[in-house]
Amino acid sequence: MTNPQIKKYDICIIGAGLAGLAATMFAANQGLSCAQVGHTGEINFSSGHLDLLGVHPVGEKKVLTDPWAGIDALVQAIPDHPYAKLSKEEIRTAFRELLSFLKATGLTYHRRMNHNSTALTSLGTTRQTYCVPHTMWKGVAALKKKPPCLILDIRGLKGFSARQITTALQRDWPNLLTARISFPGMDHLNEVYMEHMANALILKENREKFAQEVRPHIKDSQIVGMPAILGLYRTQEVVSDLEKLIGVPIFEIPTIPPSVPGLRLKEAFERGLRAKGVQYFSQTRVLSVRGNGERDFEIDIGRKMTEDTVQARGIILASGRFIGGGLYADRQRIKETIFDLPVHQPGSRAEWHRREMLDPRGHAVNRAGVEIDDAFRPLSSSRRPAFKALFAAGSILAHNDWKRMKCGAGLAIASAFGAVKSFMNICR
Ligand SMILES: Cc1cc2nc3c(=O)[nH]c(=O)nc-3n(C[C@H](O)[C@H](O)[C@H](O)COP(=O)(O)OP(=O)(O)OC[C@H]3O[C@@H](n4cnc5c(N)ncnc54)[C@H](O)[C@@H]3O)c2cc1C
Repeated sequence: MTNPQIKKYDICIIGAGLAGLAATMFAANQGLSCAQVGHTGEINFSSGHLDLLGVHPVGEKKVLTDPWAGIDALVQAIPDHPYAKLSKEEIRTAFRELLSFLKATGLTYHRRMNHNSTALTSLGTTRQTYCVPHTMWKGVAALKKKPPCLILDIRGLKGFSARQITTALQRDWPNLLTARISFPGMDHLNEVYMEHMANALILKENREKFAQEVRPHIKDSQIVGMPAILGLYRTQEVVSDLEKLIGVPIFEIPTIPPSVPGLRLKEAFERGLRAKGVQYFSQTRVLSVRGNGERDFEIDIGRKMTEDTVQARGIILASGRFIGGGLYADRQRIKETIFDLPVHQPGSRAEWHRREMLDPRGHAVNRAGVEIDDAFRPLSSSRRPAFKALFAAGSILAHNDWKRMKCGAGLAIASAFGAVKSFMNICR
């Protein structure tokens, strides 16, 4: 007998990293009722850039300006890469839908449709990325045109040095100035935190005091770069108001994790998804799942003990890798932690890593993960879908090395789109 107390959903998404959040958004946009379970994923660490494909082949460290041509070459070279399960038009549709969802929540991204953009890092190096937050976009243009520019850092902010950034850039960008300012109201602190400053700048009176600190340092600078602290939300308002107060355009530079742009992404998703009626089981985990996928799955959720049980017609597994907790490595092998799905991995632990840590070809362990069919369904040991209605998305998937390929967000977004599309197909 079914228990009438147990809530039923069309789909349960396991994981609240970028892949899980994107999957929930795609599913909610299809009108599905969604339950989402999981702690915050790696999204809090993200620079805020959304990469599609920045490097291929990784062994040659070949940096790509055209990520779409790069995807053609990648799927030829690595036919099991998750990108090979989708057409480029589907990947474009996934990005379009995701960016318009984020824009509707107030988080605007910019991109050059067919090309990567060159963006600054917190070290003063540059990287190729596909989508850049509104708050950083003027920095992309400045990096190209190199106008006289002031780079600011903030007294007490660890891991962000204007001088380090300008030292790295000055050979190609001669007109760079640096300055260190105190953040108003925090000048007595030995250490200041990005989230606190981002929160403070939401208030107009704090922006006025901040602008007063900045203005004396501008001199001939035509633009000002600063750490990513321009509001936890309402960033467009914060940026345009500060630009008026300071008198020149401004742009953010990513900081070390945990980052404000990552927090913004998470908050934007949560706001937008709540408005779509998604049920969150946040700061909890899926403890066990029953069902063979022919009927509803029954899913136990809690911290250590079951606190809720829900039913769902389908599941999207977006539980990440080792940090997220979707994969676990013991001394012998790598395991998938919820369904004990087979994990593609080297034959023995001795083969997990190459001899040199920085070997550009990467390490086999980084391509370990769950293998899927063309419908994003994890495979059992007999190479058949483990369950009819279990799908997987994100960094848990085998055959990607997103850190080296610079495809973290793209992999999460595209595979989430593919998983939801396949679930919709079996519902028809
Ligand atoms: C330092 C850092 C910087 C990055 N910078 C960028 C960048 O600049 N550009 C870019 O494109 N990408 C970047 N990324 C990568 C990107 O943000 C994503 O982390 C990556 O794509 C993986 O996302 P994911 O959702 O697959 O996994 P994760 O983010 O690891 O999320 C996994 C989720 O699964 C949940 N989970 C695990 N087990 C369970 C369970 N039993 N029950 C319920 N939930 C469970 C976890 O709680 C978590 O919510 C960066 C990542 C890091 C770590």
